Amino acid sequence: MALNAREAELDQERLPDSDAKIVLTNISRIFQIKRNNGQGSTEFIALKDVNLKVKSGELLAIVGPSGCGKSTLLDLIAGLARPNSGEIFIDGRLIKGPALDRGIVLQGYALFPWRVVLDNVAFGLEIKGVPRNERRQISQEFINLVGLQGFEDRYPYELSGGMKQRVAIARALAYDPEVLLMDEPFAAVDAQTREALQDELLQIWDKTGKTIIFVTHSIEEAIYLADRVAVMTSSPGTIREVLGISLPRPRQNSDVRSSAEFGWIRHRIRDLLQNGNGATEHSQPTDQDVAKEIASEVAL
Ligand code: ADP
Ligand code: MG
Repeated sequence: MALNAREAELDQERLPDSDAKIVLTNISRIFQIKRNNGQGSTEFIALKDVNLKVKSGELLAIVGPSGCGKSTLLDLIAGLARPNSGEIFIDGRLIKGPALDRGIVLQGYALFPWRVVLDNVAFGLEIKGVPRNERRQISQEFINLVGLQGFEDRYPYELSGGMKQRVAIARALAYDPEVLLMDEPFAAVDAQTREALQDELLQIWDKTGKTIIFVTHSIEEAIYLADRVAVMTSSPGTIREVLGISLPRPRQNSDVRSSAEFGWIRHRIRDLLQNGNGATEHSQPTDQDVAKEIASEVAL
């Protein structure tokens, strides 16, 4: 017997993939660019044929050069924009718009300048309709988690870049989304603070078990944090390859960045980014290659 229309629709929306938290199938995103003379427009393909599965509790990094479509992709997963073709599912449900199951941390803090730290962190809880006392208590918990106790009553302009970024993370975590979407969240802070924030994120991830998609243009940051790294190339933006990172955890307080395996993965990702056509695909670098690369990075 035929299913009724609604059941058929639901069936289509469900995927058999039970361990995949997020599934992207054949995503493309096209922007209409207006011509200079104001007449007509041309199409710009920002994303083409993006397929990706993210497991529940996984930390997946997306790395790629500026303009390859990382933010565009994250916006689609956040539900802030719709793909021109393809579908995105969370827990088998088709994404049709933004929702509180996804927390977003953007580049450059994006805090409310007129709210103190505590009220910034409480924002999502307000939207959720959590009563005031409970809101304060939960917000305080997350302020403590990111190490900002004592700064509850400060305004954003009274905080350093690293502290603002911590507030943004606490705000995204406070309303307990299952998925955290982070778009180059540490790009605006100095190198030392950046490494401290990376370690904090790993600790928080360990404690909360969130599924995290972390966008960055830093190859090192991607490798250090992730279970897997999706490497994107541009023109048109697409995922070139997804690499599994089997470096041991916890990675904090270890010199994992200087390990041979780290160097090898970095080399491989650089190779993919530089030779997007796969000319040197799967070529294992020699020790000299890796040494040269490390030397050039130290020189930077
Ligand atoms: P990334 O985050 O990797 O640096 P983006 O996703 O921001 O890249 O942008 C990907 C490409 O799409 C860029 O070439 C950018 O200029 C273009 N683009 C992004 N948003 C728009 C838009 N709203 N209209 C037209 N082009 C856009
Ligand atoms: Mg971007």
